[in-house]
Amino acid sequence: MDLFEYQGKQYFARYGIPVSPGDVADTVDDAVAVADRIGYPVVVKAQVQIGGRGKAGGIKLANNTDEVREHAGNILGMDIKGHVVHRLWIELASDIKEEYYASFTLDRSKKLHLGMLSAEGGVEIESVPDDKIAQIRVDPTIGLTEEATREWVAAANLPAEAVEGTVDILQKLYTAYVEGDASLVEINPLILRPDGSVHALDAKVSLDAAAAFRHEEWNEFVGLESRDEREREAEEKGLQYVGLDGSVGIIANGAGLAMSTVDIVNQVGGAPANFLDIGGGANADRMVDALTVINNDPNVKVIFINIFGGITRCDDVANGIVQAMQRVDLKAPLVVRLDGTNATEGHAILDANKSDKLIKQPDMLNAAKEAVSIAGGN
Ligand code: GDP
Ligand code: MN
Repeated sequence: MDLFEYQGKQYFARYGIPVSPGDVADTVDDAVAVADRIGYPVVVKAQVQIGGRGKAGGIKLANNTDEVREHAGNILGMDIKGHVVHRLWIELASDIKEEYYASFTLDRSKKLHLGMLSAEGGVEIESVPDDKIAQIRVDPTIGLTEEATREWVAAANLPAEAVEGTVDILQKLYTAYVEGDASLVEINPLILRPDGSVHALDAKVSLDAAAAFRHEEWNEFVGLESRDEREREAEEKGLQYVGLDGSVGIIANGAGLAMSTVDIVNQVGGAPANFLDIGGGANADRMVDALTVINNDPNVKVIFINIFGGITRCDDVANGIVQAMQRVDLKAPLVVRLDGTNATEGHAILDANKSDKLIKQPDMLNAAKEAVSIAGGN
């Protein structure tokens, strides 16, 4: 679950990380009211979950009411890389002496947390050369000690006046990351102000949705506008779904097979529209739910159903598909690969219910190729 900047800043503030005073505004009048209350100058910031807002014109400094009105009017409704701005964050502007970068995320291969700190912030971290990024690996059973933090900050070559403030923020950021069950916390830029204070000017936070059960306070973060519409619908239906950008809808049983299906569609030159694991017990209702979610995706040109029956029986799946086709008005044809337990019975059921929207392909690779050719490549 990704947070908007304003939510990320609220999250940071709970852990004592310094952020600027501010408030959200959904209209130009609200923006003016907020700015008048905070005092000038303010920064008017587009709230969209995509980086590079500054470059796209989504972040503007305003020195008075008229400028807030002008910038808020321009930014609300703006399209930033496909994300339409519905909400602004207005905060007291900061004077900036230097911009840094700081983040924590998980290094899965090393089974350690990874901290990254750079004296070159304010730009996308991908564009910072590796030798300008000081990395630290943190053993979660030990935690981030002050000593280790100081060594890390020294390795990043921050100026002496920024050291204490940065050490303090990094320790709080680590706590926010671990105790808050985040999978990513990023401050870019972390700024040094002319008065020597260090401060978070931006916030990027991803929370681990699997930990939601122990964070009642996250409810406030689940804004209606914050989610992929398809993912919200899938979640309501209890499906394991991740939205992607392509045209080949995917339904598979088991997370491993679903990921393999995404991979193979890519390998044969297609673009998956989603990851969807319907799990075991793929009965008619679940198949209807899965097909409904995928059918509502305007980019989908074909739906690839890839089932390997183990405990799941292919005849149950086939019955599910047949019933689902009667209940869902499908826009796109289905390419179905059924193998494993009761595959013969499953195929017989599909054969008895022939439809020009139903294409059987018993082999996974050929099924992927067929689906991609129907979708027309990418
Ligand atoms: P992003 O472009 O989406 O990452 O948005 P940021 O919140 O990181 O802002 C981009 C840039 O705008 C920052 O790197 C700063 O240079 C500038 N900026 C943002 N807030 C302020 C502010 O309060 N004062 C000043 N002077 N510049 C700001
Ligand atoms: Mn930023």
